[in-house]
Amino acid sequence: MAAPATFSPLMESIDPATGMVIARLEATPPSEVPGILTQARRAQAGWAAQSLQERCALVHRLRETIYARRQEIAERVMRESGKPRVEALFADVLVSLDTAAYYANLAPALLLPEHVPHHNPAVKAKSGSLHYEPYGVIGVIAPWNYPVAIPLGQMIPAVVAGNAVVIKPSELTPWCGALVEELFSQAGFPVGLVQVIQGSGELGEALILAGPDKVIFTGSVATGRRVAEACARRLIPSVLELGGKDAMIVLADADLEVASSAAVWGSFTNCGQACLSVERIYVERPVAGRFSELCAAKARLLKLGPGSDPHTEVGPMIRPQQVDRVEEQLREAVARGARILTGGRRRPDIGPCFFEPTVIADVDHSMRLMQEETFGPVLALRSVDSEQEAVTMANDSPFGLAASIWTRDSRRGRRLAAQVHAGAVMVNDVASYFGISEAPHGGRGVSGWGHTHSRLGLLELLRVKYVDVDHLPRWPKSWWFGYNEELGVAADRFLQFLFAPGWRHRWKSARGAMRAVFRGHRI
Ligand code: NDP
Repeated sequence: MAAPATFSPLMESIDPATGMVIARLEATPPSEVPGILTQARRAQAGWAAQSLQERCALVHRLRETIYARRQEIAERVMRESGKPRVEALFADVLVSLDTAAYYANLAPALLLPEHVPHHNPAVKAKSGSLHYEPYGVIGVIAPWNYPVAIPLGQMIPAVVAGNAVVIKPSELTPWCGALVEELFSQAGFPVGLVQVIQGSGELGEALILAGPDKVIFTGSVATGRRVAEACARRLIPSVLELGGKDAMIVLADADLEVASSAAVWGSFTNCGQACLSVERIYVERPVAGRFSELCAAKARLLKLGPGSDPHTEVGPMIRPQQVDRVEEQLREAVARGARILTGGRRRPDIGPCFFEPTVIADVDHSMRLMQEETFGPVLALRSVDSEQEAVTMANDSPFGLAASIWTRDSRRGRRLAAQVHAGAVMVNDVASYFGISEAPHGGRGVSGWGHTHSRLGLLELLRVKYVDVDHLPRWPKSWWFGYNEELGVAADRFLQFLFAPGWRHRWKSARGAMRAVFRGHRI
């Protein structure tokens, strides 16, 4: 089939620090996607037939491959996504290594067939169990901001579970996407089991159209809606990991030194381009002044520059258009009365995508800055009069990815965590749960549905089968055919025996009930 007219056979990888092309890669024509899926299906059949232990052994090899190439992976992530090398090592490489270790070591225990005890005496002669089977081919559609850790966090459990994977990385990080496929191939995974397809959003649509058995999508809310619609049309199940607007609640009893460092790191790591970025901070009024000063002073100390400079703490944003969005949100917030305490300027003198780490106070919920995902280097502060107002403000958002609460009283922290609408709440830390392999990651509201990471993320990649064995098949099944008036009465006694209030009444129905049990079926 001929490729569509808009198809461009070459993709360019651009260094956001300089705007220069750093690699060229072959794009995948959308017309080839169905064939790629067929190849994946073929490879998957053999892969699923291997034992879980054999699959885990290969994931251990993948972990060794990632470890051996860790510096090269960090270098590529740093150059293509712009983040400092330290962040590439911690957030992309370390998280990927731990994901591989976690699933390779623990999947056999996590996926033991589960006995299902029956509480109802009428079905005690049957034993039930849950078994897990792979879906088949998983379509992974990935974003650019953690171009190795995010796809690997989904692909590793997918293959452990016995699936094949077709992954479409972001067109902004195709070079990292190619590397991800290479790692699996170098580790010795069967040909065709893990394949990367390279292209724009149109290729993501083609992937869904080709009919994978499940789609794991990570990206913006707007694209997530399109993906959900496309999946729904084909009844393809999906996991959606979408945007966030994470709130940080700083109570008056918090350690302000630590909390301000967390606020600064949480707002500016990856230049604020993280789904778990701290995007809204609510501080109790008695400490608001001191906390704002600390945040502004610490933000001023951050070194802005290219990720390749070992001293850089905040790198560039991914593209100039992303910078425009941040500038517009800040402009509107200032026009409505917010105050910039530090930053707030583009830095074309450093490169096309640099923006100063910005601390802004006196924001309110009428501003786009507090309603929309900012996804840039902005730390936004608002004072509140009580912990209850802080929780109300935190919950006043359509997003529900994660949040954090800062207090010296961990019981108070746990109590408030229960009141915050989010998929994860950290007490006295921000975002780091993403690196805890046992912690499920998944949002509420417009932040998406389903889970990645943890046992829940593994179960998303498996179909659950309930298997039931009847150990007394000759025991009469009174609910089979042979209905008559007598059975109607006996059936009602049986219900009374099981559910009538009070033991005496239940006991009195026992004889009549037994008639139903022993009568059996006539046909
Ligand atoms: P996008 O939604 O722009 O893109 C995500 C992926 O979807 C890309 O691979 C993109 O391709 C692809 N895509 C675009 N259009 C379609 C389509 N119609 N059908 C199928 N696929 C399509 O997100 P970004 O890459 O800009 O990532 C940033 C967003 O991701 C932020 O909102 C962030 O919060 C969120 N995110 C959420 C995470 C979570 O775990 N909840 C984690 C990380 C990020 P292409 O890039 O080629 O256009």
